[in-house]
Amino acid sequence: MRALTLQADWQPKAGYTPSPEEARTHKASAGSMVWKNPSLELGPVTDPVLQPDEVLVEVAAVGICGSDMHMYESDPEGYILYPGLTRFPNILGHEFSGRVVEVGSKVNELAAGDLVTAEEIQWCGRCDACRRGLVNHCTDMEELGFTTPGAMAEYIAVKSKYCWKLDELAERLGDEREALILGATVEPAGVSYHAMFNRLPTWLPGAYVAVFGGGPIGLTAIALARAAGASQVIAFDISENRLAMAKTLGATTALDPSGLELNDVLLQLTRGHGVDFVVEAAGAPQHTLAPLTSGLAVGATICHIGRSEKPTPLSLEHYQVRGVQLAGSLGHAGHGTFPNVIRMMAAGKLDLRPMVSARLPLHQAKEAFKRLEAREDAKIMLMPNG
Ligand SMILES: [Zn+2]
Ligand SMILES: [Zn+2]
Repeated sequence: MRALTLQADWQPKAGYTPSPEEARTHKASAGSMVWKNPSLELGPVTDPVLQPDEVLVEVAAVGICGSDMHMYESDPEGYILYPGLTRFPNILGHEFSGRVVEVGSKVNELAAGDLVTAEEIQWCGRCDACRRGLVNHCTDMEELGFTTPGAMAEYIAVKSKYCWKLDELAERLGDEREALILGATVEPAGVSYHAMFNRLPTWLPGAYVAVFGGGPIGLTAIALARAAGASQVIAFDISENRLAMAKTLGATTALDPSGLELNDVLLQLTRGHGVDFVVEAAGAPQHTLAPLTSGLAVGATICHIGRSEKPTPLSLEHYQVRGVQLAGSLGHAGHGTFPNVIRMMAAGKLDLRPMVSARLPLHQAKEAFKRLEAREDAKIMLMPNG
């Protein structure tokens, strides 16, 4: 089959020593410290071999994520930007949907013909974190499209325990292809959902919400905030296209923060109250969260989703006086997140298709990555099987 593979050289940075296990397996916990000279290759690879607990999925749609871009892009020394768990060479792609074409001998809950998406976090279910229900923090995880073969391919084999059915989307939309496009946005929506409703679920309908970053995660957060009853959703991004998209998905105000005094703006928009809930999905907390003080309401909550290696100075005295809480959020697995997102979509409360700015065949994958360097598109969807 054809697939898009990312290659990179294992060359730990001077002063960084991978653990013996990492050195042996090349499964790196801090990708940007070891992987150099990334390059994309589109071509034939061996077909996946189906294991007894897996299903074989014919991939219909697969989105290109900011994380994919950060594995493809490199710093001036040539190291990838993505700071997390990675192993190369690997087929990219973790936001996908497709049709089950074959099931392994031990799979009972899915059948050929089912439309599915899958969790990217491949939690083990055995480690202490998993057994406490903290599956996004599994200490023995694999990540689909990061350490195991992803979905920018004609087919993918995935354990059935990570799959969720999308058939209700097809029933709602009356169109399988559209259901599969929407289904490929469940994973990024799940990332926002987990941060907004599972981590510190302290905000309520009527709240003022601010979202930093108008990429796919920020956009899904905007749509979820509106669907969950936020009275205002104030979006910030530096791209005009993304600000327009933010409005399409439900932002009540969309602003370029360049040169703005953020606290003043937030106070003005919220009649002096400040924002109750903040989503950091820009991956630039040193510019987004660091300046926030009086613009945060008493009892405000902040969730940090955008990844950044840079240390961020925060006004903790202010947090203490105003009772502000901050939670980091990672992943989307567990907690009923995927089925809840799918239900919201099937109920017509969450339609993320407007953020899909292009649908391209797999053979244009490299051009799509190039195009996304400008960060003007929100989500480009690749369609590996036409
Ligand atoms: Zn992603
Ligand atoms: Zn685990």
